[in-house]
Amino acid sequence: MFRYVESHLTEREPEHHFQDVLLAWVRQRGRGFALPAAQLPNAQRSVRARTQGFPPERQNERCFLPGRIKADADFALALAAVRGSLPTSEVHFTGGEPTLHPELTALVRIARRIGLTVGLTSNGENGAAVLPECAAAGLDRINLSVFGTTPEELAAVQATRLASPKLAARKLDALTATIETASRCGVTVSANIVIPDRDHVTRVLRVMAEHGRAVTVRMLVNLEDGGASLAAMKEVVDRLEAVPVRRVVTAGASDQRVRYRLPDGRPLLAKSIRPVRLPDTCAGCRFDNERDCQEGYYGVRMYRARSGPFVVGVCIQRMDLCLTLGEFVMSKRCAEVRGSREEETARLVARYEGARTEGGENPSPAVRAR
Ligand code: SF4
Repeated sequence: MFRYVESHLTEREPEHHFQDVLLAWVRQRGRGFALPAAQLPNAQRSVRARTQGFPPERQNERCFLPGRIKADADFALALAAVRGSLPTSEVHFTGGEPTLHPELTALVRIARRIGLTVGLTSNGENGAAVLPECAAAGLDRINLSVFGTTPEELAAVQATRLASPKLAARKLDALTATIETASRCGVTVSANIVIPDRDHVTRVLRVMAEHGRAVTVRMLVNLEDGGASLAAMKEVVDRLEAVPVRRVVTAGASDQRVRYRLPDGRPLLAKSIRPVRLPDTCAGCRFDNERDCQEGYYGVRMYRARSGPFVVGVCIQRMDLCLTLGEFVMSKRCAEVRGSREEETARLVARYEGARTEGGENPSPAVRAR
């Protein structure tokens, strides 16, 4: 489960996300990992192949195997260092599956002691077992990935070996138990649903009908086909007769969302992406076009290498941009991230100062920047 994982930290809104990832790149001099390709999982093989294609000036870039983050003083210091270099109010753990981390409660407690709001993203299969302790440690909210409301619907999006309606039914029961446990423990619950196109509108309406009272449903745009996805989101909004009440823009990052209110008062969120770039880092990036960089600059992520250091990256597609935490906090890139956020915060606040924040077809943005 967490064999090849480490933690990500994403500066968004400017919340920080911790994710477990399969592997990552770090710019470091010296030897790279030495595992024979045949012993590596597919993803690592493919990254290794990419290393071999690097131009001469990048041959000192090495990939590292990520390690599991421990709930120890090093983690507390790393969090504090990031917070000291990029003003931060929130930390968010993501997958892998954070509820399977054996020290999740302790990680939550450390982050809370540092003064951060703590969230996590989960598939909802193990939440009932861990959420009471996490809530007691200070967990504020959980974002659940929801793919369907019926075993058939869920089985249809599983890998072939897991595509059994029986197994899917068990997963749905576990998801329901997670939602009930979170609500009972005072943890705010959101359900993330990607909507590829209009074929998925009914599925979203069913999720709203089944879970819309206990959780805040967040429709996510499908980055592969934004047009069809946005049209489907609009259809959901129309069919539910939802009214837009607030647009939230994350200053200095690509995240934005519109908050709607249903006739019965329930909320509904529609999340999409702005084409945000870092002014220096993204300039000249080979992916800097609409097709290859659909997510844009989404935030900072932090990883831990198995060999020890925490590592900070600014782009999931450009892991070669990763720096060790020590390098990052002193770097121009850190100043660039901070400056970009401050500049856009000032611009958005000036632009929307005094505007209404509720009601109307074009609700004014609430600018997230702390
Ligand atoms: S892929 Fe990453 S580094 Fe490249 S333009 Fe997009 S956000 Fe910037």
